[in-house]
Amino acid sequence: MLQAFYGNEKAKATLALGWKGGRLPHAVLLEGESGAGKKTFARLIAAAAVCSGEERPCGVCRHCAKAMEGVHPDIRLIDGGESAKNLNVDAIREIRSSASVRPNEAERKVYILADAQNMTVQAQNALLKVLEEPPKGVVFVLTCENRSALLETILSRVTLVRIENPPPALCEQVLHELAPGHGEEEYRLAADVFDGNIGRAAASLGDAGFRRIVDGADAIAKAAVQGTEYDLLEQLAAFENDKDSFRACLRRVKAVFADLLRRKYLPEQRRDALGSGISALQCERIVAIIEAALQMMEQNMGYPLASVWLCSQIKSALNR
Ligand SMILES: [Zn+2]
Repeated sequence: MLQAFYGNEKAKATLALGWKGGRLPHAVLLEGESGAGKKTFARLIAAAAVCSGEERPCGVCRHCAKAMEGVHPDIRLIDGGESAKNLNVDAIREIRSSASVRPNEAERKVYILADAQNMTVQAQNALLKVLEEPPKGVVFVLTCENRSALLETILSRVTLVRIENPPPALCEQVLHELAPGHGEEEYRLAADVFDGNIGRAAASLGDAGFRRIVDGADAIAKAAVQGTEYDLLEQLAAFENDKDSFRACLRRVKAVFADLLRRKYLPEQRRDALGSGISALQCERIVAIIEAALQMMEQNMGYPLASVWLCSQIKSALNR
């Protein structure tokens, strides 16, 4: 059943090993970006916890069936992404007292706290009490985009599992099944732009926001090579209120320059206006600059600083 989850071999191996050795973690934290599949993976852990089969989750026992349908009475999903209230201090206290009640049907009971980064400090402290002395047979699965939003004391009590995007080529393949009816080029672009994030790529196909990212990236690349610093800033500004799209767009710009660079080394160069305005070394530098910007944004650098930094770095790499 675990094999149905794409990529993430390391996370799956961690989980499978734990179940085989009978060392069941009582609290797991799944960290990964939105759309990476944290909730799906949390459901798999929950299914494994309640499963009555041999290889957990077996996928065939009645517990697994109910777990995957989302109707197992011993699995509760509390979604902090839907409403912050769902994970406020009162909600956590209620979870705490219900956790001490025996499971209904299975041997274990699972609480999935999705988007746990939305918990207040007070709520986290309330949760800490139950993590410190978990009732027998209770498993907590927390998900978050970035562990830095959680208290150190919480982090020290959970098994951390990273949920990564699969490679873009695998994402592209999966998209054909998940979102049929699009062109090959579109699948490739979506997998590329969203860096293999299946959830976000599938949701974006055929969406106006997706075209905006792809067209925006072309305009940014053009402004970088042919325009002034002001032109470049202006094109970047189209994404100032949407950090996720901005990052997706930058990944696409990076791919455009990486592609230009590849073409420079082909024996028969296909020189378009963009490619002839820039040297191989400059392409390489721009790819590195964008990569650095993406990493800084990962560490919470905001849009204003990132865009100004990008402009000055790109323009100086091009000696313009
Ligand atoms: Zn089962």
